[in-house]
Amino acid sequence: MIWNERMECISPSELKNIQSERLRETVAYVYQNSPYYRKKLQAADINPERVRDIGDLKHLPFTIKEDMRDSYPFGLFSAPLKSIVEIHVSSGTTGNPTVVGYTREDIKLWSEVMARALCCAGAKPQDMIQIAYGYGLFTGGLGFHYGALEMGLIILPASSGQTKRQLKLMADFKPRILACTPSYCLYMAEEAREMGIDPKKSSWEVGSFGAEPWSESMRREIEATWNMAALDVYGLSEITGPGVAHECQHKDGLHIFWDVFYPEVINPKTGKPAEDGKEGELVITTLTKKGIPLLRYRTRDIVNIDYKKCKCGRTSPRISKITGRTDDMIIVRGINVFPSQIEHVLLGIEGTKPHYQLIVDRKAGELDELDVLVEVEQKFFSDEIKGLRAIEEKIKKEIESILGIFVKVKLVEPKTLERSEGKAKRVVDKRVI
Ligand SMILES: [Zn+2]
Repeated sequence: MIWNERMECISPSELKNIQSERLRETVAYVYQNSPYYRKKLQAADINPERVRDIGDLKHLPFTIKEDMRDSYPFGLFSAPLKSIVEIHVSSGTTGNPTVVGYTREDIKLWSEVMARALCCAGAKPQDMIQIAYGYGLFTGGLGFHYGALEMGLIILPASSGQTKRQLKLMADFKPRILACTPSYCLYMAEEAREMGIDPKKSSWEVGSFGAEPWSESMRREIEATWNMAALDVYGLSEITGPGVAHECQHKDGLHIFWDVFYPEVINPKTGKPAEDGKEGELVITTLTKKGIPLLRYRTRDIVNIDYKKCKCGRTSPRISKITGRTDDMIIVRGINVFPSQIEHVLLGIEGTKPHYQLIVDRKAGELDELDVLVEVEQKFFSDEIKGLRAIEEKIKKEIESILGIFVKVKLVEPKTLERSEGKAKRVVDKRVI
């Protein structure tokens, strides 16, 4: 089933007219309503009336994460606060988080693209869906909720965590669709076996998994463990949350809904378009959003993009699974973690050095773990062990309060951590994904 056949199967040449018209409207709209964008466009010497078609996009300036942070909380909004109906917040690098606001129209758009995404996954009206993404300021839970509501699914808004209860809901209510992070899905298998539930006999036939990078081997493991189809969903709160792109049953890249989220792939070093077929940084322009429309937003996700028509009949291009990031960000249990956040905490604690390392690991069937290694002054090691414990506890508490996930902190003696001549190696990602 294709949710919006008109838009998802349209010929690219016909769509180009629609995209061009939407781009003209968006540029005029932000120029008129956002002092921030007006200044930015003026500085780049862009006259909105000269933006004619989607090909003119390449002349427009980029928007980056720092633009959002610098204009905290509402400076990048183009719509007045009184027309915003929902606000979501995600963690940023240091200090201020990223804030996004949705008008009623934006929520409709989100519902529409998430309905398309769920159809890509193979959902049919009246299927039951268990949504085990977190509900709250994080966009995962509510994004799926809106799409499922739009499609007419039966929603189990389980939210994240409480694994035993998740499994009981699955066993008793028999939902056909599961939405959560891929690592949580595997984690649930261990718990299921302990409860005497055979994962292979689960009611889940289809899973929509995202919010963290995962690989083909993880897909094979999930599919074999649960006897279900595992499909990839992509999104980021700056653009809308989940629902930017989704794999169809052919599992050959994620269809990006480009009538509303226009993709470009650029060379992150030069800002110029990546060579044909080469991977690069995904840049997205929202073509219909009103609350916080973004021009050429640099996602920092590395992908390549395939414009060939898919066997499913959809004509939208497909982005590859995310192969990396242009910054140091890591995603741990669906949470964005930036080394600079940790650094910020350490700078405020006496006796620590600015030498630290984050080690993220995932043992089979378990959730991601984040270890923080921190060098402290030698004197702490000659003091009583109590002093070490106290400082360890302090660092742990502060990091946890910022990230919202448990971490392990290990204090090490000065000069233990490997030094680098160039960029410090802050992150060691041992996950096999
Ligand atoms: Zn397809």
